[in-house]
Amino acid sequence: MIHYQLSVQYPTSQFLEVSISFQVSAPGKISLKLPIWRAGRYQEANYARFIRGFAVKDFSEEEVPFMKVSKAIWQFEASKGGEYSVKYQFFAGQMDAGSSWIDDEQVYLNLVNCCMEVSGVAPTECQVQTRFPYPVKVTTLDSINSNQFSASSFQQLADSTILATKQIMHSKFEVNSVKFHCWFKGDIYFNKYEFLESLQKVAEKLINDFGVFPEKEYHFIFQLLPYTHYHGVEHRRGTVITYGPAESLKNPKNYHELMGISSHELYHAWNVCRIRPKALLPYDFSVENYTDSGWILEGITSYMGDLYLLKSGFWSLSEFLDKLQRTVQRVSEDFGWRHQSILESSFDTWIDGYQKSIPDRRQNIYSNGALIALALDIHLLNDGLSLSEFMQIAWKRFGSKMRGYQEYSFWREVEKVSRKFDFMGFYSRYISGKESIIEHLKEILPILGIKLEEGFQNDYLRNNLGVLLEGESVKKIHPDSFAYQVLMLGDEIKNVSPKGELEVHRVNGNSYSYKIKESSTQFFPEYKFQIEQETPQREKWMQ
Ligand SMILES: [Zn+2]
Repeated sequence: MIHYQLSVQYPTSQFLEVSISFQVSAPGKISLKLPIWRAGRYQEANYARFIRGFAVKDFSEEEVPFMKVSKAIWQFEASKGGEYSVKYQFFAGQMDAGSSWIDDEQVYLNLVNCCMEVSGVAPTECQVQTRFPYPVKVTTLDSINSNQFSASSFQQLADSTILATKQIMHSKFEVNSVKFHCWFKGDIYFNKYEFLESLQKVAEKLINDFGVFPEKEYHFIFQLLPYTHYHGVEHRRGTVITYGPAESLKNPKNYHELMGISSHELYHAWNVCRIRPKALLPYDFSVENYTDSGWILEGITSYMGDLYLLKSGFWSLSEFLDKLQRTVQRVSEDFGWRHQSILESSFDTWIDGYQKSIPDRRQNIYSNGALIALALDIHLLNDGLSLSEFMQIAWKRFGSKMRGYQEYSFWREVEKVSRKFDFMGFYSRYISGKESIIEHLKEILPILGIKLEEGFQNDYLRNNLGVLLEGESVKKIHPDSFAYQVLMLGDEIKNVSPKGELEVHRVNGNSYSYKIKESSTQFFPEYKFQIEQETPQREKWMQ
């Protein structure tokens, strides 16, 4: 058994005191490994920068010398068997859905940030004891009593959240004997009952389609913040969702966003938490875990999260298409697909998957992945199946027993259910290849009785020159335009004369006047959906 004692003396200092004690059976090297990343964000997080005052003591309270062997691994030599303890302080000063935060209101911890794994001792159960100024109100650990908790392994510990607070709003609903808890920290500016009812309908629809919920209990932990925020992180037994400003949830647009993240995170309870690539099974938090299935993890989940708002009746078809339109528009203004397949972009999240990349370097596993998932769904529907039904097959094959999948074994299952669908052609063009998924969607959306149309608004810079602005500075230049040959990102367009002459000020201090040649084609269309005659495939899709 490994004991973690977590205590907070001065909440406003934001420091968490961590003490880890464990039995060593024989002399040898013991390593303490702090995770370098967390589930749901496939990129290094560098939590070690939040640690100070690391020390080791042996059974007679003597200090034991230690050394760092890498940025997040501390090591010491146990001279003989007995109980050893490690102490350090962790700064909990980052509020988001995957980090930790302590203040005069709450102690909110995602244990993957702040708990080290002990290696060099036999894998064993973990016990957590808390000494906080506020009572623990929510945790996804197993509870022993009000301040003692347990996890069967470090994997479970690292997948757990603790929230201790003076005050929190709690509601629950039940679907097929699964208890769903909803915890709201912060002010609620929306109709809570309507929200819970809508969320319950999404959960019912999902459980109906998958046939089962993977856990007995599930916690939605909402941090409704006074400042702008938008984040969600999945865990097996729950999700944390940070959203702000809380007051903006008065507006339908923001309220729908909150429902969108909630549905997305709930879908992860199956896809990612259980249906997971072998490369992430189990998560190895001490190194990068490379997988080329990022589009399955996040693309399918982004698409399905929204689709279940439609299927559960929360969204009308036109509301669903409004959201999809924004995704199509965003994807259409980036040309990463010309340079990298979605498989390569999945692998590369560790480099720049969550930051703005250099121009047109990569695809976005969320939005490009969602459009690929939609296209896959349409092809499956055309064969009498659907992606929802296919994911139930994936659940049975890879998820229910957590066997994991290889990218090719996932695809082999698609092959098994395909009849008319040219799955190999699709795979080589849009998954391992570099073709535009939007062009393909234009061809196949009529199967659902939906048309994707392009329009131009006579915007000279955008449509004729291929230049997108943010304020007056250039934020994007179409790679096929003549503007690409002379303009720089960040150039300020001071004036456009009636003859089409551009007055440009550059960051290096130079100023230019350009008459840029217009191309024969128009750039950056605006996309819109047209709902046409219903088809049997659409009917099945929306069920
Ligand atoms: Zn996600």
